Amino acid sequence: MEKIQDRINEQSPWQQITEGNKIFEPATSRAFCTGEWRTAAPVWDREKCRQCLLCTPVCPDSSIPVHEGKREDFDYDHCKGCGICARVCPFDAIRMDDKN
Ligand code: SF4
Ligand code: SF4
Repeated sequence: MEKIQDRINEQSPWQQITEGNKIFEPATSRAFCTGEWRTAAPVWDREKCRQCLLCTPVCPDSSIPVHEGKREDFDYDHCKGCGICARVCPFDAIRMDDKN
């Protein structure tokens, strides 16, 4: 069965859009690049990072991927630039860039 998130995009006519743009299907967040909303982006300094992983659980958008126990670079498709990760990093390994 066709999913709503596969059908609705920037070119969709209004007849195909649900009332109030509501989407009732689960697990749709991967399909939408909410990072487009961002006005500032976190920048990771790998040299300063100690891989303490304090930043990963606080990200409300799960945009700090972890592979084999180590964090990787940000998922900019979904990071909304809230800056929480930069605030919690105890080693100043994340800075917010408003030009990014
Ligand atoms: S800026 Fe916010 S959304 Fe982006 S990675 Fe950091 S905590 Fe997550
Ligand atoms: S909180 Fe800072 S030091 Fe810890 S893993 Fe995240 S970026 Fe690296």
